[in-house]
Order: sequence, then structure tokens, then C-alpha cells
Amino acid sequence: MVRSSSRDAPVVAATGLTRRFGEKVAVDGLDLVVGRGEVLALLGHNGAGKTTTIRILAGVLTPTAGSARVFGLSPFADGPAVRSRLGVLPENHALEERLTARQNLRYYADVYGYPRERVDGRIAEMLTRFGLTDAADRKVGGFSKGMKQRLALARALQHEPELLFLDEPTSGLDPVASREVTASLREQSAGEGRTVVLCTHDLGLAQAVCDRVAVMRSGAVVAIGTPAELAGRLPGRLIVEVGLGEGKRALESVRAAFPDAAVELAPVGDELTIDHLPAGSAPRVVALLVGSELSVYRVEPVRATLQDVYFSIYGEGG
Ligand code: ATP
Repeated sequence: MVRSSSRDAPVVAATGLTRRFGEKVAVDGLDLVVGRGEVLALLGHNGAGKTTTIRILAGVLTPTAGSARVFGLSPFADGPAVRSRLGVLPENHALEERLTARQNLRYYADVYGYPRERVDGRIAEMLTRFGLTDAADRKVGGFSKGMKQRLALARALQHEPELLFLDEPTSGLDPVASREVTASLREQSAGEGRTVVLCTHDLGLAQAVCDRVAVMRSGAVVAIGTPAELAGRLPGRLIVEVGLGEGKRALESVRAAFPDAAVELAPVGDELTIDHLPAGSAPRVVALLVGSELSVYRVEPVRATLQDVYFSIYGEGG
């Protein structure tokens, strides 16, 4: 059961968080606030500083500068108090391979001081939830990557933490298992009110489950907001279908009127794709075409996706 406390106090708050490894600045003045029950994804290329951020927030690493607070406490100085309320799925699942799945869960239940009278029931529940009941008494060393990942997720959740840090939760999972994890993450926040911070390269997962995403670059957050907010900051794409044989003339009119837009005519059919159009220009495009005595059959604004947001920050070549 997730404990209730002040709704307004952020669960995670980082200010000017910085971590150096020698000359390398892995996290560089990062500011981040995560509210109770929120699901937030940290996105970014390899080496952007996502894992280091999570490791500091989980109390595994100390920051070189800046402040990190989890439940209002220092994750390092107040380690035991923070960790008892925190579930972590590390980048490398760190399971004990010589133990069975059940033994792994029991070991961590002991570490977290889970009530003894409830532990067997809770382990059985987690094994069922993550589809591992049949494999419960097999050694983890013989598990597939996906099974290990599911067990590591079960371990992160079994002591009913208020906050979850998940590093690449769908890594190594087949599409079916990945979809199940995605559904389970939605349940964590919507159904159980749990706060989740996850690092992922899976933009589909971030779009599907996250309330907000933070895009990191060179150790800092360079964009943060809901997927819709971030997408809404990008110039729109408009698809316009005109009358048979009118495509070329429509293309020329739009190019002349909107010189900064990128306009393409589909090889088949009289359909224009217009990118980099200033926000709210669709009615002007329609008026322009109709004014040029062209027939407008279809006007379809296409929303930017999180992938478009990501590539607008990192560029197509990274
Ligand atoms: P990925 O997507 O590949 O997991 P990431 O965004 O999680 O990357 P980090 O693992 O936080 O990035 O690494 C950020 C930078 O810090 C990288 O350049 C990495 O090589 C460096 N780094 C991380 N941990 C250490 C360490 N223990 N010693 C030295 N450098 C490190």
C-alpha cells in the first residue's frame, strides 16, 4: 500500500545537480521536480547522464555539487529511510543467478524488512503478476533476458514502494512482454498512485505511459513537459489533398506564399505534405488554394510525436 503524505511536497527534487567522474561531467547542473503519482521519463542519447541521475537520486552515488531530495530527505545521508520507500530496477538487473526466482524475491523481502507473515503471499502475487509462477523454483542463471527483466521488476515492486526508479524497463523484452510492462507501469501510477521515474530509449513507452518527459543532453534537462506540450512547440505538418491534376500548381502556390515551409508533392495522387508551417496557418493555406481556384478535398493537420520532439533536439544524425 502506498503511504499518503503531503500531496504538494515533491517526491523528487534536484537543484543544480552535478556529478563529475574525473574530467567528465556526467550530470551538469540538473534541475528536476517530480510530483506524487507522476510518471516521468528521462530521455536522451547514450551518455546523456540519465543513469547517473537515477543513481544519485537512489543514493548509490553522491553528487559533486547541487542538491538532491527524495521524500524531502537526502538519498545518501538518509539512505535507509529513503530506500525502504523506494524500488529500483537498475541498468543491469543485478539478480543473484545461483538462486531461484522465489529465493531472489525472498532475499530482497528480508533486506527490505517486508512483514514475515505476508511475505509468501506477496512473492506468489508478484510471480503471478510477472508471469513467472512456472519458473519460480528454477535458478535465475538459466532464465532468458526477458524473464530476468520481469523478475527484476517484481523485485523492485514487491515491498510496495512509493517511488520507483526504472532504468530501461523494457530493455531485452519481446514485444508482448514489453506491452505487458507498459500496461503494468500505467497501473502503477493510475491504479496505485505510485511515483515512477524511468530512463528509456523507448519513445513509444514514454509516449504511452508518461505524464511528463524530460529530455537530457550533456547532463542537463533541455526540454521538459507533457508529450503533447513538447510536441505542440514544434511547427506543424499539414497534409492537403487537391483536385485531380492540380497538385503541381498547388505546390507552387504554397511554396511562393510560405517560403520557409518545406512542401512536397506525393509521387502518386495530388497530395501535398507541408512541414515547418507557422502554427495556425492551416486556414491561410486553404484560403490561398481556394483563392487560386484549386479544389481542396482534404486538410489534415498531423500532430508531432515524441519522436519528432526528440529528433528536433538531437537532429536526425544525433
Ligand atoms: P545510456 O543511455 O547509455 O545508459 P546515460 O544517459 O544513462 O547513457 P550515464 O550512464 O549517466 O548516461 O553516463 C553519463 C556519462 O558519464 C557518460 O559519458 C559515461 O561514460 C560517464 N560515466 C558514467 N558512470 C561513470 C563512471 N562510474 N566512471 C566514469 N565515467 C562514468
